Amino acid sequence: MTAVSAREHSIDPFGTSSVNDYERLCSDFGIEPFGPMLSKVPEPSLYMRRGIVFGHRDFDRILESMRGRKSFAVLSGIKPTGEFHLGTLMTAKEIIYFQEHGAQTFYCIADVEAYEDNKIAFDRSMKTATDNVADMFALGLDPKKTYIYRQSKENRVKDLAIILARPVTLATLKAVYGERRIGLYLSALIQAGDILLPQLEDFDGPKPTVVPVGIDQDPHLRFTRDLCKVFKRKYGFVLPSSTYHKLIRGLDGSPKMAKRLGNYFTLHDKAETVVEKVSKAFTGGRNTVEEQREHGGVPEKCPVYDICLFHFVESDDAIRKTYHACKAGELLCGEHKEQVIDCVLKFVKEHGRRRRKFLEKAKAVVLAP
Ligand code: SF4
Repeated sequence: MTAVSAREHSIDPFGTSSVNDYERLCSDFGIEPFGPMLSKVPEPSLYMRRGIVFGHRDFDRILESMRGRKSFAVLSGIKPTGEFHLGTLMTAKEIIYFQEHGAQTFYCIADVEAYEDNKIAFDRSMKTATDNVADMFALGLDPKKTYIYRQSKENRVKDLAIILARPVTLATLKAVYGERRIGLYLSALIQAGDILLPQLEDFDGPKPTVVPVGIDQDPHLRFTRDLCKVFKRKYGFVLPSSTYHKLIRGLDGSPKMAKRLGNYFTLHDKAETVVEKVSKAFTGGRNTVEEQREHGGVPEKCPVYDICLFHFVESDDAIRKTYHACKAGELLCGEHKEQVIDCVLKFVKEHGRRRRKFLEKAKAVVLAP
């Protein structure tokens, strides 16, 4: 299977991804649906309850650890290319969920990938990473219980990449990632090192590890799991598990909110910028108020609805009401946008206050040798 499938979806960890049919994608890529797991998960997260986490690989193993209070790890991270937006916020909340449920926690600053993929120099990405880590702390990541590192400075990750590279052929890399620059292949090997880092003896050895990611990152998981099988006997690695969340729609209505597409607001944007961006956002509304009253809107295609579903409406009951009010034509886009803007501004203001308190701490962590 190549990185890009021409049928219902395109999955590209180094580019733009889109998915029309998540069920079809699960069957094409051998991903297990998450739904049947839900009733067994202790205190499932908002993303799990709402079907935003839709798939997994070997999550049973993590579930067993969570329920049996056995050791397991969570690893995910951020490519430090810009300020936190609602897409990156998802992964952040997922890591925090697993940390709160007992996981040994690893947070990777993917500065090698930022360099290879986005041409961002290390000194520049370090500054961005400091901001990103402050965001993480403000959201609830516990600094005392998290191993945070930069790829470029973590020798154990780089050593793993060297070791893991031995059996990898160019044909394999092309099959998983398509034809790419060597730097991106290098970055993929480093990511494999990231994913296996929690299982090294320095971190108490092999253990189940969950990697919560957007579906566009699945090629990294498939690649790493294949390598893990090759090195299992030598290192005793447990095959890493993963959960996959749906992609949040961009404000322009495109299938993915992404820094490279500019279709987002960040947690650091000024109030007037948030107001402007949400006010101008694409919606699933009809052309006229009369049509909308008669036929209702289409929340399934609406980024404003996605913002509520993924982030700003905590109560499941409230989000159901919003959905039905939109479908019934009782809720109009203008008034809904105003409500959403209020919620977002409240959140951004409170988050900004919290993150300022963590800036020095974040700086110390990111600059640590
Ligand atoms: S009413 Fe809200 S959810 Fe429905 S289409 Fe308009 S903005 Fe989207």
